[in-house]
Amino acid sequence: MTEQRIARLRSRMRKHRLDALIVTAPHHIRYLTNFTGTNALCVIRRRSGILYTDTRYERQAAAEVRGVSCSITTSDLVETAAKRVAASRCSCLGFEAGSITYDQYKTLRKHARGVLLVQTTGFIEHLTQVKEVREIGFIKRAVSISEEMFEKVLDQIRPGVRELDISAEISYLHKRLGGDRDAFEPIVASGRRSALPHARASRKQIRRGDLVVLDFGCCVGGYHSDLTRTVAVGKSSEDARRMHAAVLRAQTKALESTHSCMPAKELDQIARSEIAAAGFGKYFLHSLGHGLGLQLHEPPKISPSSREELQAGSVVTIEPGVYVPTVGGVRIEDDVLITDRGCELLSHIGRELRIV
Ligand code: ZN
Ligand code: ZN
Repeated sequence: MTEQRIARLRSRMRKHRLDALIVTAPHHIRYLTNFTGTNALCVIRRRSGILYTDTRYERQAAAEVRGVSCSITTSDLVETAAKRVAASRCSCLGFEAGSITYDQYKTLRKHARGVLLVQTTGFIEHLTQVKEVREIGFIKRAVSISEEMFEKVLDQIRPGVRELDISAEISYLHKRLGGDRDAFEPIVASGRRSALPHARASRKQIRRGDLVVLDFGCCVGGYHSDLTRTVAVGKSSEDARRMHAAVLRAQTKALESTHSCMPAKELDQIARSEIAAAGFGKYFLHSLGHGLGLQLHEPPKISPSSREELQAGSVVTIEPGVYVPTVGGVRIEDDVLITDRGCELLSHIGRELRIV
């Protein structure tokens, strides 16, 4: 598995005339070598590869790492790797512009003397976008755990319960039901707070008549799920029902229109114009969706400024939302696998406005 991924990376390196690439993003290190420790870096060369980590991870690296050799060191990882690269016949070394720190870059420049340093952007992301069957399996499992969790947590949403209590239940249930951890701190935003698209759960008590936005996900095998449902407590107002209907229509239209080779911004536009037609255009405050995998947010971004095309085999979220400060917010988010003919919906919980 990792061997094939590294082989694909090497052919990309050849195209860009890189003798070696220093990989610093932890999720990319995991993708290429299977290593899950937090302190590591990896140098992929044309014919070999080395993972550098410290003594705490010696046994873990021996058990996990595939496709490259391991070097355990007590010295600075970047310095060790840079010296080794400089001592070899490497004239052009790529680095990940999006994840290397400035300090690491300075260390690299100091110790990889005589080596041309070339910044790379989206280099490994290009590989990770199209998912393997096994990766899709992990995402499906994470989605189904989150769905089971959601059905259970619905019973706990009632007047007088705090947002933080619901958020704690979500985290607890995710683990009890088979997830490794939350994919992110769950969002539980009620009443007017639901109009904040990324509200953190607070000590606010949920009240009758509130809209509650619940955005949650878990991790399985490093892969994420990311779902959002909006519920009304006790009753729903006319405004809330109109907002929900508009968001649901936008999402349904987007789901029906999704297919490979489609410009991501065109999909965003389909949902956005549906919401605008319902009169809520200025209240859709974020992009329509994002890629999902070893990272919670990964390419492609589905937004008005996207330049990418959707690719068959990539997993993305479709999450339109409307946020009216005086009423509250509604968001519906589902995870889909892009296919040649359309998309496969990975999440199955009902998308109607539920009254709890
Ligand atoms: Zn989400
Ligand atoms: Zn999302």
